[in-house]
Amino acid sequence: MAIVAVFGALSLVGCASAPPALATPRSQPNLLVFLVDDLGWQDLSLPLHHVSTALNERYRTPNVERLAAGGMTFTQAYASAPVCTPTRTSLMTGRSPARNHITYWTLNADSDTSAPFPGLLPPAWDVNGLQPDDVTLPALLSRKGYRTIHVGKAHFGAQGTPGSDPANLGFDVNVAGHGAGAPASYLASESFSRGNVWDVPGLERWHGSDAYLTEALSAEASAAVRDAVAAGQPFFLNMAPYAVHTPIMANPRHVGDDPGLPPVEAAYASMIAGVDRALGELLDLLDALDIADETVVIFTSDNGGLSAHGRAGEPHTHNAPLRSGKGSYYEGGVRVPAVVRWPGVTEAGARSAVPIITHDLFLTLLAMADVGLKPELRGPLDGVDITPLLKGAGPGAGDLSDRTMLWHQPHYWGIPGPGIEPFSALRQGRWKLIYRHRDRGFELYDLQVDLGEAHDLAPSQPELLHRLADDLTRRLRRVDAQMSLDAESGEPVPWPADALAPGDRG
Ligand code: CA
Repeated sequence: MAIVAVFGALSLVGCASAPPALATPRSQPNLLVFLVDDLGWQDLSLPLHHVSTALNERYRTPNVERLAAGGMTFTQAYASAPVCTPTRTSLMTGRSPARNHITYWTLNADSDTSAPFPGLLPPAWDVNGLQPDDVTLPALLSRKGYRTIHVGKAHFGAQGTPGSDPANLGFDVNVAGHGAGAPASYLASESFSRGNVWDVPGLERWHGSDAYLTEALSAEASAAVRDAVAAGQPFFLNMAPYAVHTPIMANPRHVGDDPGLPPVEAAYASMIAGVDRALGELLDLLDALDIADETVVIFTSDNGGLSAHGRAGEPHTHNAPLRSGKGSYYEGGVRVPAVVRWPGVTEAGARSAVPIITHDLFLTLLAMADVGLKPELRGPLDGVDITPLLKGAGPGAGDLSDRTMLWHQPHYWGIPGPGIEPFSALRQGRWKLIYRHRDRGFELYDLQVDLGEAHDLAPSQPELLHRLADDLTRRLRRVDAQMSLDAESGEPVPWPADALAPGDRG
């Protein structure tokens, strides 16, 4: 119900004197997606649980809070996958990782990064990732007149393939993006380099300075936005700081503010503070350029927070009250922050518990930009346009609360931990079903009362288990999902419905 007057078509970018007019949402708003890497659901001072947690007290993200105060916060937002590349390529394509066959992270051309797992082999997935023949969000926006800008971590396609360069995937501008998904170093004094595949490209002019990588990317993004505005073009900025991915390296501007934290946790907190500062700089820029009212800002993360290794304290606890973290099928691996500010449309300070998932943003951003998909481009997509939700729970929006979402990762991340193994899973309303490829076993949780996924209902709810296993199977088949292979037979592991013992069928 929150559709209010916004500046109309006369309020062109760079044209400050146009009078306000009653209108529907601006047909070509600027689009700013701020996609943090590995930022966990609890890695903010903005509470996303029903209570503020100890982690919310630890981290300082005033600019995320500022964004949330002017927009809509999603308390049950999900990443398309528990690791980087599949979520990022799903955002770019509107297709789930299972449908894209990009189900794991990419690095070098024609090479599989999947870690060995006893008894299973990964399927023949697309180890090269996104390539120029894929229809992408930036390419569609570019055709509609947008200047499309990528800044930071890309990780869409493998090194040694055209897809490693965002400029080959529809972006007009690429700053510092390539095929690797982490920086060799966050320090400009080290040239962001260790002399290997992880060296950050394209920031030579920063080398030798005291800049932290996030700061350099923020400055580069600001310059690119200024250029677009000066040219009178609407822009799509995919702002993707490499932070807070490993290596966990202290941001000197922000470290030391957290007395009592172990050094690695203080460094991690400083990386989050640096990311928040970068968001704040971009929000300030929108204000300074007088384009905040015509710019959509979306803040989110590509997977859950790192918790299996490299952190201080008990592993697998860094996303509490969620279980486990990055790489896992539990909520800690896939539940992420998400805030959307659509000026004149989203109700300021609104919160929504409707589940959304990264690849929803594809159709959503296209709808915001009024870009229609030609039938030949449409193909099968997996996300939904959430603009009705953003407009205030209009007719049909409520239906999404019981929607079904699919995750599928027939790969092992290589670090032992709860839920870190090849799997398929779905969430349907309050229920979450997990199918383990290793033993063809199931877990079933009621997220409404068991957010920490501690009480497996699979043994006690056979009818529900069967129904959800059938649904998971239908959805996997519909997207032509590639199951893990049995290492001995070389055959795909059974579909979930076929893994239920006949006697289990009521
Ligand atoms: Ca990531």
